Amino acid sequence: MKTWTTKSGYKITKLLSFRGNAYLIATGTHNILVDTGSKSSYNNLLRSFTQLYCAKIDILIITHAHYDHCDNSSKIKNQEGCKVIMSKYESEFAQKGYGPLPKATLFVTRPVAYLGKQLERKVAPFTPFPVDILVDEYLTLNDIGLNIEIIHTPGHSQGSISVIVDREIAIVGDAMFGVFPGSIFPPFANDVPLMRKSWKKLLDTGCVLFLPGHGRKIKRELLEAKLNKER
Ligand SMILES: [Zn+2]
Repeated sequence: MKTWTTKSGYKITKLLSFRGNAYLIATGTHNILVDTGSKSSYNNLLRSFTQLYCAKIDILIITHAHYDHCDNSSKIKNQEGCKVIMSKYESEFAQKGYGPLPKATLFVTRPVAYLGKQLERKVAPFTPFPVDILVDEYLTLNDIGLNIEIIHTPGHSQGSISVIVDREIAIVGDAMFGVFPGSIFPPFANDVPLMRKSWKKLLDTGCVLFLPGHGRKIKRELLEAKLNKER
């Protein structure tokens, strides 16, 4: 499993990765899971926890209410008793068990083939789950001694959030897409201009690496280059 270590010694490990990524942030005091993958990934997720000697998940952060990111939230919450953090703009979907899929962007043909026909559904259901802490624009985990922030990065969906670890590495959900080399444009986005504003917001955090919900890490230089380009 790919791991990055930030300046405070927080270890970020990329889990799953077949249909969508999840990330585990191990700070030494807390284990924070970002996204859960889809239902079929559940056993893989548990296996990863065992391999990483992760005894307990303390906090679960869901970047947005799409099934391929949150489908195991209910199970993880029940099993671990963790606090679930999500955007206040999408928590109603967590209760309903579906998130409306965003509009396809123009860059649609190849990614759709990659993501599979599941994403062509208008609504993709998942098991509903309770949310404990709602994020509006900004939330810091400073009060539990962590240099971790959660910022609102809408565009792919209205309530997409990103996790800023040590102002060094950002876990960005589907605000960017790392599947095709040299490209970061997600195949689906509700509001492209808003998504670009979120890219700027992410650059302003000073982070040097951006970890997407699908595909590989994205370097700051690539994001900077793409910010003002069409695609
Ligand atoms: Zn999504």
